Amino acid sequence: TGTRATYFGAGPSALPVSVLEEAAKGLLNFQNTGIGIAEISHRSKEFTAFLTTLESLIRTQLDVPPTHQILFTQGGGSQQFSAVVMNMLARYRLLHPLDHTAAGQGQQEGGAAAAAGKLDYVVTGSWSKKAAEEARRLVVGGGGQVNVVVDGRQYSKDGKSFDNIPSHDAYTFSEDPALVYYCENETVDGVEFSHEADSAASFPFHLLKTSSSSGDGGAPRRRLVPLVADYSSSFMMRPIPRLADHAVIYAGAQKNIGPAGLTILIVRQDCLVDVDAAAQLGAAPVPTTLSWKTLADSGSLYNTPSVFSIYMAGLVLERMGAQGGLRYYEEMNRRKEEKVYAAVREGEGKGVFRKKVRDGSESWMNVVFEVSGEGAEGRFLDGAEKRGMKGLKGHRSVGGIRVSLYNAVTEEHTDALVQYMKEFIAEES
Ligand code: PMP
Repeated sequence: TGTRATYFGAGPSALPVSVLEEAAKGLLNFQNTGIGIAEISHRSKEFTAFLTTLESLIRTQLDVPPTHQILFTQGGGSQQFSAVVMNMLARYRLLHPLDHTAAGQGQQEGGAAAAAGKLDYVVTGSWSKKAAEEARRLVVGGGGQVNVVVDGRQYSKDGKSFDNIPSHDAYTFSEDPALVYYCENETVDGVEFSHEADSAASFPFHLLKTSSSSGDGGAPRRRLVPLVADYSSSFMMRPIPRLADHAVIYAGAQKNIGPAGLTILIVRQDCLVDVDAAAQLGAAPVPTTLSWKTLADSGSLYNTPSVFSIYMAGLVLERMGAQGGLRYYEEMNRRKEEKVYAAVREGEGKGVFRKKVRDGSESWMNVVFEVSGEGAEGRFLDGAEKRGMKGLKGHRSVGGIRVSLYNAVTEEHTDALVQYMKEFIAEES
C-alpha cells in the first residue's frame, strides 16, 4: 500500500485498505467455498446469506423501521431518476383512478390536476436539476406535471450558480403531489442540507402537506408524504434525519460504501406498487427491472445483481459497525470537514482561496472552493500531486477545487491535505 495515493476523488472514491485486502482474498475464494466472489452463483446459499447480512447491517446502522424495505439494484443514481418518476406516478394513479365523469367537473380532488400527478422537485444543484429534467422527459404526453418547488440559482450570489440551500419561505409545494424530490448532498456544487433542525438550511419537513382530502365521514385522511431523497453522496456518513418520513431514499454505492454497480434503495411499503395494475388504469408501463415491487418480491434477485459490489459493500459496512457505526463516522466526518473549511476560510482571509458555498449550506462530503490568481489553481494541483494527493480537481462543469471527504478518507489524510493548504497559503500570500 506504500504506493497508494491520498485520494480525494468524488466517486468512485477511496475505499478502506483493509477492505480491499479482504476483497482480494474473496476474489479467489469466497467464504471457503473454493469459488471466487465474482464467480459464485447469486442464488448460492452463501451469497444469499451474505445479501441478508448486508440488508441487516444497513437496517441496524441507519435504524430503518419495519415500514421500509431495503432493496438492491443496478443502474446507479441516474437510473433511479427515471424509476422514481415511473413508480411514484404508478402509485399516484392507483390512489387516484381516472374517473371520467368526475374529471374536469372539479368533483374529483383537484379536478384535472388530479389526473396528472404533480412532481415536485427541489432543485439545489446539478444532480437534482438533472433528476427534474429526466422527469420532464418522462411526463411528455400528459402523464404528470413537473413543478420546480425552488431553484437555488435564484438565490445565489451571481444569479446563476448553485451555491446555497434556499430559506424555507422560498419553497412552494403542490397540493397532494405524486412525489416531492430532493438531493440531500449535491456532489458537484458542494451544497448540502443541514442536519441541524433549527438551521435555515435544513430540509423544510414541516412544510410538507401530510393530510389533504377528507376520507369517509369527513374525517381527515392522513396521506403519507411521497418524499424522495437522493442520498448518493451522503449515504452512511451520518444518520438520516426523519428517515421514517421518506417514501424512498436511494444511493449509488460508489462514494461511501463500495464499488460502482450497486444502488441501494430504502422504500416505504406503500410505494411498492403493482405497476401493471397502474398501467391498466392509464399509468405509463414500467420496465420490469425498474419496478421496485419486482425487486421487493424477488428479494432483490429478480435478475443477476452486482455480486462483487454487494460483497464489498458488506465488508465496508461490517467494518463500520465494528468501529462504532454512524455515530462514530458522523463525529469523524464532522472533524474532517471542519478542518478543511477552516483552512479554506484562512486562505480566503489572505486572498488565496474563495469558498463558493454560502455559510450553513456547505457539504460535509464535497468541499468546493476556488484558488484565486493567475495560474494558481494549476500550482495548487501540481503541489498536491507532488505530495501524492489526487482527485482534487473540481467537476468539469464548474471547475475549481473539490475535496471529497468520504468515509474512507482518514483523518490523517485530511490532516495532510490541511497541512498542504496552509503551506500553499503561506507561499501565495
Ligand atoms: N446523484 C448524485 C448526488 C450523485 O453524486 C451522482 C453521481 N455522482 C448521481 C446521482 C448519479 O449517479 P450514477 O453515476 O450512479 O448514475
